[in-house]
Amino acid sequence: MIKGRSVTSYDMVIVGNGILGCATALELVRRDGGLRVAVVGPEARAGAATTAAGAMLNCVAEVNHRTLSTAAGQAKLDLSIRALEAWPDWLDAINAELPPDRRLAIRNGTYVILNARAGRLDSLNYHAIVDAATRYRQRFEHVPSGDVPHLKPGVDARPLSAVYLPDEGSIDARQVLDAVVSVARRAGVVFLDDTVAGWKRNGDRIGSVVTESGAEIQADNFLVAAGAASHSLLTELNESAESAEGAAMPLQPVLAGKGVAVTVRGTGSGAEHVVRTPNRAGGCGLHMVPGSDGTVYLGATGDLALEPDESQTVGSVRFLISMMEQFDKRLFRSEIIRWHVGNRPVSVDGFPLVGRVWQDNLWVLSGTHRDGFHCSPLLARHMADLMLGGAGVLGDHPFVPLRQPIRTMSREDAIDELALHLVSQFYESSGRSPAYSEVSEVLERQYRTRTRETYDDLGIDFGLAPDLLGLLNWAADRDAKIGYFRDYFQRVSRAEALAPTR
Ligand SMILES: Cc1cc2nc3c(=O)[nH]c(=O)nc-3n(C[C@H](O)[C@H](O)[C@H](O)COP(=O)(O)OP(=O)(O)OC[C@H]3O[C@@H](n4cnc5c(N)ncnc54)[C@H](O)[C@@H]3O)c2cc1C
Repeated sequence: MIKGRSVTSYDMVIVGNGILGCATALELVRRDGGLRVAVVGPEARAGAATTAAGAMLNCVAEVNHRTLSTAAGQAKLDLSIRALEAWPDWLDAINAELPPDRRLAIRNGTYVILNARAGRLDSLNYHAIVDAATRYRQRFEHVPSGDVPHLKPGVDARPLSAVYLPDEGSIDARQVLDAVVSVARRAGVVFLDDTVAGWKRNGDRIGSVVTESGAEIQADNFLVAAGAASHSLLTELNESAESAEGAAMPLQPVLAGKGVAVTVRGTGSGAEHVVRTPNRAGGCGLHMVPGSDGTVYLGATGDLALEPDESQTVGSVRFLISMMEQFDKRLFRSEIIRWHVGNRPVSVDGFPLVGRVWQDNLWVLSGTHRDGFHCSPLLARHMADLMLGGAGVLGDHPFVPLRQPIRTMSREDAIDELALHLVSQFYESSGRSPAYSEVSEVLERQYRTRTRETYDDLGIDFGLAPDLLGLLNWAADRDAKIGYFRDYFQRVSRAEALAPTR
């Protein structure tokens, strides 16, 4: 006998159970207690970004030397600062519904250090952080002689300089997610331990999603907040929109920026605040985030791929462990409590994807890369407002999902930037050369040559982020990957050519 497919129905269905999906669900039921909201996502959350995050609540500490040179970079920092301001009230509202022993608190303060364990990129980004703090009137203090309390780095990794940002702190991402889920559940949100496999359309709207377990879930409105899986989940709808309209603007690919981190038992050093480097060497920089229970979170690696995966490599473990002498030599005796592997959702231009896509009742919230956890209170409020027919709380912003990639660099700038990152990587991995050698210059030249070849193969003339260029420069299946992006950029060009002139 063929078993019938179970069909359930809600007002709002959210696909993806990371912080962005769960926080949006909570926001929806807070706005309207009568709404029937379901969140679909595998309870194990293998490879999710949220459960692997530190999580630092950083704004200017995330700035790099190019951030403020573009309107989109400034808009992103504005968003991040507004999110920081939103955290205390957002957390108070959650805490009000938790028993006292489960209440959550932000641990204030981040030290950003500048040491000589990377290339000159670190200096550029460190000074950009100080400039941004000044320009955006964020509180900061220079730390005399880079003498960060409780730090015990290897002697050749001593900070040359450090700055303390008292308002940029951290919180345990896993505890926050648990709290959001339990408060939302009590407010009536239904969490379905399942994975969405496809879509059913009803005229020009989405009618339902179909899951791997065979369930069909109908709703009036749908949000895709499936992290690094968001794009592949939408491929079918993307392709049919493109073929129906001749050349509609395609949704940007959302790549997977895999990050590995580890929580260890504290070293007795007593560090109370985040200590981090600027973003460096194609990745998110190193950071040490103290936990509330005597543990320390050490992160993180960054490897870009087309699809998320949950595996942990020998290389990532080696990298992470060997980097820790930049903070505290005593960590080498620390007991390992837990490894974390998560996939940051990374859009092609590096900015979030926030808003409606092809159907009137379908939204996407993804591409948050390194700081989606930090931005979640604000993004969730914005998204809930949009889904309820409002204009959102972000105001005029450049992060609409069906956009051409935001251009922040020329092709030559991007080649320079990648060379800076790669030379940084060389020194971060203890590259040594005689003092008189021109090794940095030689490396930069080589990296530039390879990247120019990649650009010629891609056939575009604007800048791409270093991690994406790095992926294309040296991938084992380089031709296939370049083909994938060349095809995407050609589709963007066709859509631009056919778009009505504005
Ligand atoms: C190592 C690491 C460190 C980080 N550190 C920080 C930090 O310090 N501060 C910060 O702000 N951010 C940090 N981030 C980034 C941050 O974690 C992300 O930006 C944010 O968590 C993204 O949340 P999300 O809900 O979009 O995605 P995710 O947390 O990835 O959640 C997506 C969920 O969707 C589910 N899903 C996937 N496919 C389907 C499907 N077909 N059907 C249903 N469900 C599906 C997945 O299982 C997953 O649970 C870090 C990330 C990593 C990996």
